[in-house]
Amino acid sequence: MTPQPDEAAPGSASTKPLDGHVHVIGTGAGGTGCWLRLRGWRRPFARLLLRHMGLPGSALQHDFDRIYIERLLTMIRSSSLGAVVILAQEQPYDERGVPHEEKGAFYVPNDYVLSLAHRHAEFIPAVSIHPARRDALEELERCLAAGAAMMKILPNCQNIDCNAPAFEPFWERMAEAKLPLLAHTGGEHTLPVVRPELAHPRILTLPLECGVTVIAAHCGTQSGLFDPDYFEQFVEMARHYPNLYGDNSAFNVPIRGRCVPECLRGFLAGRIIHGSDLPVPVHGHFAWLNGTIDWASFRRWEKDPNVLERDFQLKRAMGFGPETFTRLHGLLRRVKT
Ligand SMILES: [Zn+2]
Repeated sequence: MTPQPDEAAPGSASTKPLDGHVHVIGTGAGGTGCWLRLRGWRRPFARLLLRHMGLPGSALQHDFDRIYIERLLTMIRSSSLGAVVILAQEQPYDERGVPHEEKGAFYVPNDYVLSLAHRHAEFIPAVSIHPARRDALEELERCLAAGAAMMKILPNCQNIDCNAPAFEPFWERMAEAKLPLLAHTGGEHTLPVVRPELAHPRILTLPLECGVTVIAAHCGTQSGLFDPDYFEQFVEMARHYPNLYGDNSAFNVPIRGRCVPECLRGFLAGRIIHGSDLPVPVHGHFAWLNGTIDWASFRRWEKDPNVLERDFQLKRAMGFGPETFTRLHGLLRRVKT
């Protein structure tokens, strides 16, 4: 049966906490259609990320895609979370809609996350479609029919200037379908960047004007020591657009977490969504050094080997209110099958 948007049952879904930003990674083992291209320093870095999740680096040589998903499910089931949003990963395209696979580091097909979510209630599917694709609208319709709950893009890595007038019908269709957009903002160091200027949150203006609910991943914060910090510009835009939210993903890395006190105050506190950015590392040291968590919370949760739970508990200890972890229930496209 074709899934239909379900707007009539707000109380029927779980109200347990959600993690709105979890990456799926795959090598293609088992025919998943994923690919992963690790060059130079990214190779040892990937093994480091896997060990941080509790997987051996050697897992990459085996039935990796299955191993990764099983580990993810184990982590969710032994955490305080009800479910996590798993993200597909589109390839970079140029403005004419020609794919540039060589500029990407990994790829996760929409069908893979859709089928995982179909099989496991712990997963909520976020598809990823480059709006310059010649079949972008058809792919959007196909994903909506298959139960997409969110869309994810990395504009600076995938070469997506969301303000391009040609993309307006795509954003309008997303708004009509109530499909929210999770878009990376701020610098990026884990993946190759194609157009650094597309890290600015202002590139989200057109989808916001079209009525799309937009979540600026990382709230425009600085990623490395030498990146521009767009947090203040994000806050100004959030003041102007009631349909703009920000996620606190990767706030447990050294630099991004500096904006936490401001995220807990005033109107902004009502616009923050919890996300871990798994497999990005989660460490409480920086929050403790900044004074955003106390010593006892740091000691207790830094030791938790389940990094999804660790991130959740550290964010709670920072002072993010309970709604930060459940707000996403009201923003996701709800489908019943
Ligand atoms: Zn991410």
